[in-house]
Amino acid sequence: MDKHHIASGNALDTPARAIRPGHFCALLCAALLLQPGLSAAAPAGPISADALHRHISVLASDEFEGRWPGSRGEELTLDYLQQAFEAAGALPGNGDSFLQPVPLVSWTMDVEPSITVRGGDFEAELVYREDMVAVTRRLVDEVTVTGSPLVFAGYGVVAPEYGWNDYEGLDARGKTVVVLVNDPGFESGDPELFTGRAMTYYGRWTYKYEEAARQGAEAVLVVHETEPASYGWAVVSRGDSEHFGLETPDGNRSRAAVEGWLSAEAAARLFAAAGEDFAALKAAALKPDFQAQPLGELRADMRVRNTISRTDSNNVVALVPGASHPDEYIIFTAHWDHLGRTGDEIFNGAVDNASGTAGLLLLAEAYAKLDPPPERSLLFVPVTAEEQGLLGSAYYAANPVVPLERTVAVINVDVLNFIGPTRDITVVGYGASELDAFVDAAAAAHDRTVRPDQRPAAGVYYRSDHFSFAKQGVPALYPNMGRDLADGGTERGAELAQSYYGERYHDVADEYSPDMDWRGGAEDLKLYFDIGLRIANSREWPNWNEGNEFRAVRDAQRAGQ
Ligand SMILES: [Zn+2]
Repeated sequence: MDKHHIASGNALDTPARAIRPGHFCALLCAALLLQPGLSAAAPAGPISADALHRHISVLASDEFEGRWPGSRGEELTLDYLQQAFEAAGALPGNGDSFLQPVPLVSWTMDVEPSITVRGGDFEAELVYREDMVAVTRRLVDEVTVTGSPLVFAGYGVVAPEYGWNDYEGLDARGKTVVVLVNDPGFESGDPELFTGRAMTYYGRWTYKYEEAARQGAEAVLVVHETEPASYGWAVVSRGDSEHFGLETPDGNRSRAAVEGWLSAEAAARLFAAAGEDFAALKAAALKPDFQAQPLGELRADMRVRNTISRTDSNNVVALVPGASHPDEYIIFTAHWDHLGRTGDEIFNGAVDNASGTAGLLLLAEAYAKLDPPPERSLLFVPVTAEEQGLLGSAYYAANPVVPLERTVAVINVDVLNFIGPTRDITVVGYGASELDAFVDAAAAAHDRTVRPDQRPAAGVYYRSDHFSFAKQGVPALYPNMGRDLADGGTERGAELAQSYYGERYHDVADEYSPDMDWRGGAEDLKLYFDIGLRIANSREWPNWNEGNEFRAVRDAQRAGQ
């Protein structure tokens, strides 16, 4: 998961509330279970703990240097993956190539960004990392904002399916919009408002930036509050001096010039200087008739300076063609990249995500050897630069190798089960789409229970590569390890998971050892294989559930198919 996940601790780690397979799907599941050849778990021959050890030990070796995009580690990784896909019987997925080049851009801060706010006899220079952080994603060495009026735009959300528009009546051009993190449902706790405590994409800071840009805002500042953000100010203010992104043909000029965060204390000071009460305006923002309002006479000057550099990285794309509907695709993603090295210290990323990458190799081999072959095509896409903000998958989704409207579903593998075989399986994104029926049927065949995301309020769904596809409309799932150990139960399972997320996650200690237990990883992969196969052998086009924030995009995309 991307690095803001650090702050959420182990987001998946509260006691399991298992749901019986089949509980939610009634007739559709029954129909699937009755289909010939689908009643039992399909054989997934090459998938084994030994095979996982073999691939992970190479991908997470010191020689691969922590798989940093653009490094020697990337070259070795790409060579290894291409050879392994070929040996598995998969075909190049991008014309005659296994690679999709992904041009990455990076911004390195030259001097600390500055923001000064003035109005009447008030003047304050905000302190970098204490009061604010700010970057630009435009491809210029320097951006300046001068005398931009501050406007409070509530949650900064435009959500037609919830009848919500915080920008209604506001001409945001030239303005600095100040917005709240998360969405109104979270703050109110009202299950009828958005999705209640569960976060929608409208709650993510990335969305706030995107919407502000669409509205033509000059700058956008998100007010940090620990509870709705699900991580503390320390995570935001740590901000690396270098950040990566993608380049659009307009040099990212469609983004707001400055994107950043305000600490809750700094925001309260600014609201007070404008003669407003932060808590009162926040409460007003929970009402559907909320209107964006200027923060008194306050205006901001800002300056951000960078050195820009470019790096060529790559996604890998491998294909197992379908027998009868080769132009319809199920995509498996897993990020191959990790955090690289600093000096002698290597972030090997054995669990995160050499494991998932190895998983894709085994899935490809299992599908390629299947007799009879799957009806629809399977595409395996190990993506780059997930750790830098889901960049490889975002690039793919913006430049798809096969059309998104012909892509039935996406299944993401980010971290395989390293705790041993479990009776349950966690599925992040469960409850969002009709893919649940396929998950339920496969889980039942494998005698597994389905455990939905345990902390939907933390927005884990929006923090790994499947999300890049969801955002573009394609129904997507992120299955992850369960907690209910076949040998040891839930308490022991949670303990083992916690020891990883607490001590080794995104640390140099996430390294390969022959003692690792990949039996559960292999069992989970067999289940993923079965989910994918059921979708591949179906004629269904599972959609997002009614009311889901991605459904309108999918409906428009699929219209005319
Ligand atoms: Zn990670």
